[in-house]
Amino acid sequence: MRFMLIVLGLMSCVSWAAPGSVAVLQYHHIGDDTPRVTSVTAEELEAHFAWLKENDFTVLSIAEIQRRFAAGESLPEYTAAITFDDGWRNVYREGLAIFKEYNYPFTIFVNPKLMREASSQYMGWEQLRELQKHGAQIANHTNSHWHMTWRYEDETEQQWRERVVADVLDAQREIDENLGEQPRHLAYPYGEYDVALQTLLQKHDFIAFGQHSGPWTSHSPATAIPRFPASAQYANLETLRTKMKSLGLPITDYEPEEMLVSEGQTTPSFTVSVATTEDFNPGQMNCFAGGEVLQPEWDGNTFTVQLEQPLPIGRSRVNCTVPSKSQSGRFYWYSHPFVRADERGRWPD
Ligand SMILES: [Zn+2]
Repeated sequence: MRFMLIVLGLMSCVSWAAPGSVAVLQYHHIGDDTPRVTSVTAEELEAHFAWLKENDFTVLSIAEIQRRFAAGESLPEYTAAITFDDGWRNVYREGLAIFKEYNYPFTIFVNPKLMREASSQYMGWEQLRELQKHGAQIANHTNSHWHMTWRYEDETEQQWRERVVADVLDAQREIDENLGEQPRHLAYPYGEYDVALQTLLQKHDFIAFGQHSGPWTSHSPATAIPRFPASAQYANLETLRTKMKSLGLPITDYEPEEMLVSEGQTTPSFTVSVATTEDFNPGQMNCFAGGEVLQPEWDGNTFTVQLEQPLPIGRSRVNCTVPSKSQSGRFYWYSHPFVRADERGRWPD
């Protein structure tokens, strides 16, 4: 009986810590003559891949992770996925040798319309086909890479819906025609979405990735999957390693669902509910907003974070972390995205 209890205790611990947390790495350019803020050098990328290998990470394709989550299968203790946004030509030029060496699956999110209009900057279908032979899946980054949630002046909601769906499905058709049918995976340009857009994508069977950080778990909303930016200052392995080993909170609910804060609201709050706090001490959770460290307010399995400093115009994210009790050196990580518009309802790229 006593033995049984111990076994059950272990099982309950394993069963909720183990379904799997996936660090999805997000890259753009590979190069040292490209905008640093969205670039890794080939040396940095190689160092990341080598680190994944040395640390016994399993790198899986997004499609395989999606399949395992859907089937309720568990994932290896350390799992990562690799993604590149925009399909820059330098990813082929600088990355090919590294992709060949490591043979990891990865995803490139492309904009077919931009590929046609600026063919010197972006990879063409021929190069993408070659990368497919070395682990690439090619996915959707919309046709035109604009702010998907922006409505034109005088545009009705219905007209916006039709425009967005056409832009996504036209891109998907062109990708599928050139490369064979690819999984319906989309990366939001600038990581921006709203509930109306999520509903549309869900209706068309897409899963979609943002640019707020945190590991992908079976609890992540299928149309707001987080990724860890791994370019520029985020390329530093000293900090990236903690993110790659981070754990996802077992989130059951969060609000607000909209990234966009309402007009005049400059210091919003957000509230997150989790299935259990068994594996961490809620009092140890810290949230980071810009330069501020905020302490969440806990009520049972629900915490609220109230911002104190006004959000700037544009995108922001608040990251909350708390150490795991059962897995030494690993942290639970949750990121909440916000966007604040100017008086015209717009914000910078
Ligand atoms: Zn992009």
